[in-house]
Amino acid sequence: MTTPDPKQARLSALRAALSEKKLEALLLTDIDNIGYVTGFTGSAAYAVVTADKAVLITDSRYTLRAEEECPYFESAISTSSGGYLETLAGVFQDRLSISTLGFEASDLRVSQYKKLKAGLPALRWTPTDSIVEDLRLVKDTTEVAVIRKAIGIAERAYQSIRPVLRAGVMERDVAVELEYALRKGGADAVAFEVIVASGEQGARPHHRPNERVLQAGDFVTLDWGASVDGYNSDITRTVLIGPAEPTTEQQKVYATVLQAQRAAIAAIAPEKTGKEIDAVARDYIAARGYGEAFGHSLGHSLGRKVHDGPGLSTRSEKVILKPGMVMTVEPGIYLPGWGGIRIEEDVVVTETGCEVLTHLANELEVIG
Ligand code: ZN
Ligand code: ZN
Repeated sequence: MTTPDPKQARLSALRAALSEKKLEALLLTDIDNIGYVTGFTGSAAYAVVTADKAVLITDSRYTLRAEEECPYFESAISTSSGGYLETLAGVFQDRLSISTLGFEASDLRVSQYKKLKAGLPALRWTPTDSIVEDLRLVKDTTEVAVIRKAIGIAERAYQSIRPVLRAGVMERDVAVELEYALRKGGADAVAFEVIVASGEQGARPHHRPNERVLQAGDFVTLDWGASVDGYNSDITRTVLIGPAEPTTEQQKVYATVLQAQRAAIAAIAPEKTGKEIDAVARDYIAARGYGEAFGHSLGHSLGRKVHDGPGLSTRSEKVILKPGMVMTVEPGIYLPGWGGIRIEEDVVVTETGCEVLTHLANELEVIG
């Protein structure tokens, strides 16, 4: 049996979704969605998909790339790099005979929409929501392989900067070292601005690293990821800066977060909802008296975007886990004036449960 080409499989899946929604054609403007469906890696394009036609609209900077990367799409090349309205109008006039066009309502700007609509007055424009995003939730093996690569780069970067994690070093210097190590280690970019939150600043989950100097006895939370070949990793570790022995409370809070994470990971399986998994970690933390201190979702879908769609949260009763979904599992406890702990793994849902893709040790550790 031959494995179907993922690019062909994605185009077929999109066509099936359009048919199910009785939609004649879809205009894709979200570049992550375009990259997913067409294979295009450039940064400017539109794509139109109907039951029997698929056209990528881009400009002459990308003529060759479009041909090489998008075997299932005809290309329409604009000679100007802004807007592509004329080229798009030409495509509808010469190559497609449709009357209704779906557009991505969460991506297309109102100004752009008005311009396109005025330029293509014969079409009936209809808003759509999350058609490609929904397809993107379940990753194929080629996508999971790229996410593994992004995780590997992030883990090696962390290992390489561990000597920097010691008393006397500024948070922002740790962040800069980690960003450099990510790029040096093969990341196309950082997945997001690295978070380094030490001491009482760790009580803010999205703290921006500043001049605070790490001190012995501080917990330091690092949250980082690599972006490579269009996919991202997202990992968090919290370590204790030495020389120090963890206090009883530090041990208790750390163990609570870690056990909550382990319980949630053990519970992940196909057909469970994102809400059920979130509740496993949330109930565990609440039962130990820290319910108020875990204020964010347990996890999110991970892929072409760092937040690649709905995940594991109190609002995820309609998110049904399926094999191939990649999720973060990141419980945390944040205590104002004291600090915070978060531990984040990336997992892929399998036929029977899940596989943890991140491999860094996550036991309480004293560094420096
Ligand atoms: Zn993260
Ligand atoms: Zn995350």
